[in-house]
Amino acid sequence: MTDKTDITSLFPKELEAFIASLGEGKFRAKQISEWIVRGAQFHEMTNLSKALREKLSERCMVVPIRISESIQSKIDGTEKYLYELSDGNLIEGVRMRYHHGDTLCVSTQVGCRMGCAFCASTLDGCVRNLTAGEMLSQVIQVNRHIRETEGEGRIHNVVLMGSGEPLDNYDEVVRFLRLLNEPQGLNISLRNVSLSTCGIVPQMKRLAKEGLPVTLSVSLHAPNDAIRRKLMPISNAYGMGELLDACRYYIENTGRRVIFEYAMVRDVNSDFSCADELAKRLRGMQCHVNLIPLNDVKERNLLSTTEKEIQAFQRRLEDKHVSVTRRREMGDDIQGACGQLRRSRLNQTD
Ligand code: SAH
Repeated sequence: MTDKTDITSLFPKELEAFIASLGEGKFRAKQISEWIVRGAQFHEMTNLSKALREKLSERCMVVPIRISESIQSKIDGTEKYLYELSDGNLIEGVRMRYHHGDTLCVSTQVGCRMGCAFCASTLDGCVRNLTAGEMLSQVIQVNRHIRETEGEGRIHNVVLMGSGEPLDNYDEVVRFLRLLNEPQGLNISLRNVSLSTCGIVPQMKRLAKEGLPVTLSVSLHAPNDAIRRKLMPISNAYGMGELLDACRYYIENTGRRVIFEYAMVRDVNSDFSCADELAKRLRGMQCHVNLIPLNDVKERNLLSTTEKEIQAFQRRLEDKHVSVTRRREMGDDIQGACGQLRRSRLNQTD
């Protein structure tokens, strides 16, 4: 990264102060913030003087990431992006089209250090945290890409389910959420945002008190500690009892139900005894279970279950009054899953 100030990371008041330090007034700050939301580079900010544009590009940065590749699925229009950061690192994102608007899956770290057995993002560990500006820029640049390729449209919903563990980069993620919600900025309602975590209990409790109405998704993937430990190293630090208590605490403090992600892994977490145990543990909780077919990751020897098995598991949970859906697979033809595109590009350059 450079030592230039990334002005996409600034709140309106901070931008005003920064612009004032360059000897310019509030009006200029407002003009600049309108350009930032549109994803413009300094040379495109045509209502600013050339001298100011030059001064800005010497002192600061405005597009900390750029889309270096985009691939659209022929099946469902899902679009995958490879972004390049200003230091050359690569991250990725996916846009999914739903009837309630376009959703962007945002990355929070380059790589991840959580070590989940089934996840491609974690295979090389965590390279670094993303800044709030780099997260915001993913949304801004995709909006720009949509306008340029489709004429209109924008991202309505955001899910923090790209590479990285959001709660392992807590301060920047919370800053990003507030920036996303900024009326002068993208103005995205936090009710349209989901944050997914592998279950870092103390940070979940902290998030419950931030006053941010985001939906918390918890990657559970198991009905008990013994199975969860086979898949997710974080469960050695925080057991399921503590994790579910933190979920209850989140529900109490925010009034919002928690979503549990459950990827079906053959011979590991997919038989009826798992469904029964899960139903028992979640009884009485304001929650919803999302069943996900595992995306096979070549490097790991974990396999997905059949469609029939998923449906049977779903019915078993429904019979026990658990609210449950099966997540639609999207972008199957474009390596839609976590970390897969970045890995295939990194391997090409190896
Ligand atoms: N670190 C966060 C968010 C990123 S992962 C978390 O753990 O929740 C987003 C979701 O994709 C998580 O539920 C994760 O468990 C799931 N996931 C990762 N690899 C997968 C795979 N190969 N198949 C299915 N789901 C996967």
